[in-house]
Amino acid sequence: MGACQAFGPSPNLGGCTSLFRVMGENMVKNKDSIKQKIFLLIDFAIFENENKKINPYIKRYVKLAFELAKKINYRIPKETHKLVCKNCFEIRTIENTKIRITKGKVNHNLKRYLSLHCLSCGYVKKISI
Ligand SMILES: [Zn+2]
Repeated sequence: MGACQAFGPSPNLGGCTSLFRVMGENMVKNKDSIKQKIFLLIDFAIFENENKKINPYIKRYVKLAFELAKKINYRIPKETHKLVCKNCFEIRTIENTKIRITKGKVNHNLKRYLSLHCLSCGYVKKISI
């Protein structure tokens, strides 16, 4: 017996469905605002890294962004993965990355990948071109 049925027969049922609809809309709005937060955090981390001031929280901003994405089941796009490392949450610079183009076979078809090697943790990210 649900919460709706406790109040009585049919007239309350319509109100119940509209309530669920409103809840769904709120969830969608939350998802959009969380996506905005993810990109804002990563942008801010990159900005702080370029400023050359020693900010100890840069890694935490990136980690928080990845955790938020995991919570709402959102896949972070390729462009963002080119900027930050997923494994150690460090921002990619010329000093700490090695970039190569590699080839691989998938179902007898040649595919080209951009492999980004993080030198501070050793994680390799492959992005298909
Ligand atoms: Zn790394």
